[in-house]
Amino acid sequence: MSAARNRYVIANWKLNIPPEGIDAYLNAMSGQANVVVAPPYPYIARVAQRVNAGAQNCADQTSGAFTGEVSVTMLRECGARFVIIGHSERRNVYGETDAMVARKLSLAIEAGLTPVLCIGEDLRVRESNRCAAFLADQIRAVAVPELERDAEVVVAYEPIWAIGTGRNASGAMVAESMNDIRDALGRFWPARHCDAAPILYGGSVTPDNIGDLSANGNVDGYLVGGASLDSGKFLAIAKTPFAT
Ligand code: PEP
Repeated sequence: MSAARNRYVIANWKLNIPPEGIDAYLNAMSGQANVVVAPPYPYIARVAQRVNAGAQNCADQTSGAFTGEVSVTMLRECGARFVIIGHSERRNVYGETDAMVARKLSLAIEAGLTPVLCIGEDLRVRESNRCAAFLADQIRAVAVPELERDAEVVVAYEPIWAIGTGRNASGAMVAESMNDIRDALGRFWPARHCDAAPILYGGSVTPDNIGDLSANGNVDGYLVGGASLDSGKFLAIAKTPFAT
């Protein structure tokens, strides 16, 4: 079933650029069709000349007095094809609510960008065995009308306790959460997303743990932070075959 879905391996540079330099990094990515690179805003146009480019965020407004914000239309004009929405660092550090995430999702779809919607539980939720319900709530909270359109939406399962901590979820945990998310997509989103939405995993992915994470066959790709800053590590992740 997953063979019909697109697979993506997305580099989230966050507020960094690769130590090797942007051009050397992009040279290394040449020809990697399933790779998406999401740099800080000022580098999107440069990245877009060489590989699929994504933004790490977008405004929840289209224009006006919103100092420091960047609209989905502006991102399109810079060459972005993807936009990460609702990353836990946006939700937790900058106070983004589900309502803001929902507006961003609507605007991204309207603008023709492919949204990469991040969801994921914190350690408290995981340790109290409430993951499935928590993830379902996050899916339901952003069930906007624009999801009826014929547009691809990517979901990234990113357990907060695994982001930037060096502590990745096990392959078995990821497999279970992927099933929970697909089940919630079927319940709360228009039917077509249930099968069609690629679901990625993110959280301390490295070339060393990719084998275990891929083994269960229901992961459609990865959202990679720390390890994406090194082209060698990121390529090793991107080139790892998916289990079927
Ligand atoms: C992320 O920020 O989306 C992420 C997954 O980071 P890391 O790979 O560093 O855990």
